[in-house]
Amino acid sequence: MSVDGKVRIVTTSWDDGDIRDLRIAELLHARSMRGTFYVPIEPFNGNPSLSKTDMRALITEGFEIGAHGIAHEIMSEVPVGKLDYIVGTCKAIHEDNLGQRIRMFCYPRGRYTGLVVQALKRAGYEGARTVRLLATDTRYSPFDLPTTTQVYPHTRVEYLRNIAKARKLGRLHDYVTRLGLGDDWVEIGKKLFDRVLHEGGIWHLWGHSWEIDQLGLWDEFAQMLDYVCRRQDVLYVNNSDLPQYVTRRPN
Ligand SMILES: [Zn+2]
Repeated sequence: MSVDGKVRIVTTSWDDGDIRDLRIAELLHARSMRGTFYVPIEPFNGNPSLSKTDMRALITEGFEIGAHGIAHEIMSEVPVGKLDYIVGTCKAIHEDNLGQRIRMFCYPRGRYTGLVVQALKRAGYEGARTVRLLATDTRYSPFDLPTTTQVYPHTRVEYLRNIAKARKLGRLHDYVTRLGLGDDWVEIGKKLFDRVLHEGGIWHLWGHSWEIDQLGLWDEFAQMLDYVCRRQDVLYVNNSDLPQYVTRRPN
């Protein structure tokens, strides 16, 4: 906590375990930033993926590995009877391979139900990340962790749709007024980071390395990181540090 009593947190998360995650880790590490890599057990889309050795090296550098299903299952579509098996197995395999407790889960495509949350709690997870955007506040459940911005050129319509799904009027108001209905992800990221500096809160950047690579976003990504790194009174953490800072369950 800083002198003014506000908590300012920066975290990042990276989905799917693609081998190009190593480039993300390099860019983060060079700026003393942290992050959680959510890796399914089976390679996503058949792409080359992080090996056990890669994941161990990431942990040694201070990053975290989180679970992302066995085969990137859309959890809301998994038969209820298989939920415990999937969330338990992907956790156990990573723990076996890495010799470390897996504390966080990320819902593939952000889809889940209350039954999925119950299964995660039974398996011993401490929290889970969604794909909701534009959040900087701390008022949500550890199993409903939103994000702030994605390394992806979303359109205005996509931002509005994402806000509508989150059913957060405050976020809609912010998007229209403070962010001026913008669609430049770096600008949105900077403005929301400035807000966290002023008001406190959590700034959470996420993305997919395969997508950053395909869309040629590495330079913009580095520019975004340069803006938020090495700031005074900001804590740079992995996702499993978030549950202790979120304060209230949503209604
Ligand atoms: Zn994914």
